[in-house]
Amino acid sequence: MAHPQLASKFTANKERAHWHDKALWFVRQKRDRMAHSVPEWEYLRECASAIKQHTLSRLPEYLEQFEQNARERGAVVHWAADADEHNRIVLEILKSRSVTQVVKSKSMLTEECHLNPFLEQNGMDVVDTDLGERIVQLRKESPSHIVLPAIHIKKEEVGDCFHEHLGTESGASDPAYLTEAARQHLREKFCAAEAGITGVNFAIAETGGFVICTNEGNADLGVSLPRLHIACMGIEKLIPRASDLSVFLRLLARSATGQPITTYSSHFHGPREGGELHIVLVDNGRSDIVKQPEFRRSLNCIRCGACMNTCPVYRRSGGHSYESAVPGPIGSILNPIREPETHNSLPFACSLCGSCTDVCPVKIDLHEQLLTMRGELGKKKAIALSKTLPMKAATSVMKRPWLFRAGGRIARTALRWLPNFLIYNPLNAWGKQRDLPQSPAKSFRELFRERSDKKGKNK
Ligand code: SF4
Repeated sequence: MAHPQLASKFTANKERAHWHDKALWFVRQKRDRMAHSVPEWEYLRECASAIKQHTLSRLPEYLEQFEQNARERGAVVHWAADADEHNRIVLEILKSRSVTQVVKSKSMLTEECHLNPFLEQNGMDVVDTDLGERIVQLRKESPSHIVLPAIHIKKEEVGDCFHEHLGTESGASDPAYLTEAARQHLREKFCAAEAGITGVNFAIAETGGFVICTNEGNADLGVSLPRLHIACMGIEKLIPRASDLSVFLRLLARSATGQPITTYSSHFHGPREGGELHIVLVDNGRSDIVKQPEFRRSLNCIRCGACMNTCPVYRRSGGHSYESAVPGPIGSILNPIREPETHNSLPFACSLCGSCTDVCPVKIDLHEQLLTMRGELGKKKAIALSKTLPMKAATSVMKRPWLFRAGGRIARTALRWLPNFLIYNPLNAWGKQRDLPQSPAKSFRELFRERSDKKGKNK
């Protein structure tokens, strides 16, 4: 389904849409306060962008350097060309060690590769240990935000979900009580797990180590109890030196949730004593993006979610309307690059206000890429006729100022006199969302009758 249809499902619940918008705007404001409290904020953004662009320009060398250093530290490094190969590698590692119980911390890459359903189909019990991810997993939903996966769910709904699955009291909605119930539930899963799967926030070529950032410490626990740790990372997560890390750690949490730093920024250098560490390096279309100069900067992304929190379209349409692991402005670039036909509506889910570009900590020119992407989809003839035909009509009107002015006059008159049902009806999605002036209280027929009566009296 295209974005407008899915968005209209979300906006049908006006209360939820309003509350979702407010919740994300609150996070955006926290981010602003944090950004303004760091005098060198813009300098940090410049540095982060330059480091990422430099890394991408020499990606093969840095990947080889990372692989060599990680191997020297005792990790086993695997290469996956696409999502299928990534899933197969993870499954083979688990199967060869007779693992069936797995805990997994938040990883957008594994969402992108649909790892959970794949492992479950192959007999694995996979438990997401991030609280928000566990909530959506129990509700059999996908995350709606990359940092706040359950932002679309109210605490009362979490209470109902926990009552059904974890046996909490019926009607309970106290966050402290529900969080404690989740902790107890997840502790059992951690203790029973035979393997821990994590994502990677930053991998350092110079050291062969990597960093995982969480607020709940779930990644640390998930890889400290079982002896097998599988870390899945997209190849763009690389940075050259350990000294580059501070730039990104200072930007990430401030941009994501308005915190000075994530509660846990855990460093991994090889397997723990008596344990095994596997690192799966995943391409899945990233090399193709590197080759496209107009979209290459989209690989700078550190998945902070700031562009989602600020986007007026995302805030009002919800993450599920993007039907992808990465929604919002950055998802509207990355998804159509990979599957232009499937995601052709996403670059149009944008007002081109540029707010995403303003907040992006790694200076991705998001709104400009979105505009470019529209052109690319046009060239590939991947835009629906329902969009191209009105655009063609608008182009021919815009080219003729006299027609534009006449059109404006006609539209103004029509809006004054058009009967309301022509605007507000289920077939007109545009009108449904608008609060236009009411049509005049008197109908044409009444006005005509009044006029004839007047004429009759004058005679
Ligand atoms: S595009 Fe920028 S703002 Fe959006 S998630 Fe990525 S790093 Fe954050």
